[in-house]
Amino acid sequence: MARDRPDRPEAFSEEHCVLCGRCLEVCPLFAATRREELGPRAKALLAQLMEAEPPLTPRPAAARLASLCLGCGRCRGVCPQGVDIPDLVARLRREHPGFATWVWEQALTRARRTWPLAARAAGLAPEGLSPERLGLTLKCLAGLRPGQGPGRWLTVERFPDQVRGRDALLFSGCLAENVFGHWKAAARRLLDGLGARVAEADWACCGDSLGKAGLARAQDRARARNIEVWREAGRPLIAVFCATCLSGLSDYAQDPGLFADRAEAEAWISSLAPLSGLLKAARFVLSPDAPKAVAYHRPCHADRADSDFELLSLALGPGLVLDTRGQCCGFGGVMQLAAPGLCAEVAARCWQALSKGPARTVLTGCSACVVQLRASAPEGVLVGHWLEIIS
Ligand code: SF4
Ligand code: SF4
Repeated sequence: MARDRPDRPEAFSEEHCVLCGRCLEVCPLFAATRREELGPRAKALLAQLMEAEPPLTPRPAAARLASLCLGCGRCRGVCPQGVDIPDLVARLRREHPGFATWVWEQALTRARRTWPLAARAAGLAPEGLSPERLGLTLKCLAGLRPGQGPGRWLTVERFPDQVRGRDALLFSGCLAENVFGHWKAAARRLLDGLGARVAEADWACCGDSLGKAGLARAQDRARARNIEVWREAGRPLIAVFCATCLSGLSDYAQDPGLFADRAEAEAWISSLAPLSGLLKAARFVLSPDAPKAVAYHRPCHADRADSDFELLSLALGPGLVLDTRGQCCGFGGVMQLAAPGLCAEVAARCWQALSKGPARTVLTGCSACVVQLRASAPEGVLVGHWLEIIS
């Protein structure tokens, strides 16, 4: 059941910012630009100013500042006051929707038609015709075409029996559903190898990116649809291979209105499983042509344990040389459309860390991180989802 949304803005901040600045230390946008007006503290202050009647900040300025957040959530984890900046930003975006938000909504809710088309169009755009500030966004779109990955050089020699015979659904996420079908096929092969009984499912977007863009009604519809799919399938295991999707799906449990009762919300959480976690007891063999060194990019939305990293550590051993925790790729969702130049600055900082080691192959477990890192990678560096290396 979808939540009712008020027509009037909610009070922006129940917990008040005390301007301590702790969030500045973790904000990748501030780290890349050193511009305090782009950081979380400025957004907390903006939200407080917007609470005044009449608002003390001009609406166009509020809309612009609200569009400049990557939604990484790092600030939320360190605030001693419990201020939830991504949530404040989502509310501001909801109250001040701009063109970028509209485009983002079309991209996520009509992904099946728009993404393959946009990828082809971006690939055809002559460099000279691309405005400089759109360069990275066009590269992201062009990178939606398959065939640019790190190649297959890891084989599963033995699968564990943990989920053998168990009913399961595969949640692939918007990118794998609409453009990276080879990720979905690889995940499906692994689930078959694990012996799970996988049924087809017609999922909607996980809703995470819609919610961060302030598109609450679209997020509610997507969440309600997904819970219905799961119920109709008999509430089976849901295997997920995108860290951001897994985080977005896990967040459903924080909204009791979505579920029949608490027990169903708990059953939802118990059903979610990172695909990498199901493979931890598998035995892997590296091909002779496997790269000697591989860097790992930890997505902002990976949970603390990060089972993708754990799996790669087990499978690659000492070949896994670098984990860029602390760095954000700079994809940013709706911000990619509102300020691609700033997203590129964050990506450049991430690549400074990734380029420290000898690795020329970078793996990660988030769909959006793959797109952003591929679009911003230095010449000769291969970027891929970890699924792509498994034959
Ligand atoms: S950490 Fe919290 S209280 Fe401190 S400046 Fe940031 S938002 Fe304000
Ligand atoms: S969500 Fe990320 S980018 Fe946005 S203000 Fe917080 S730390 Fe900065």
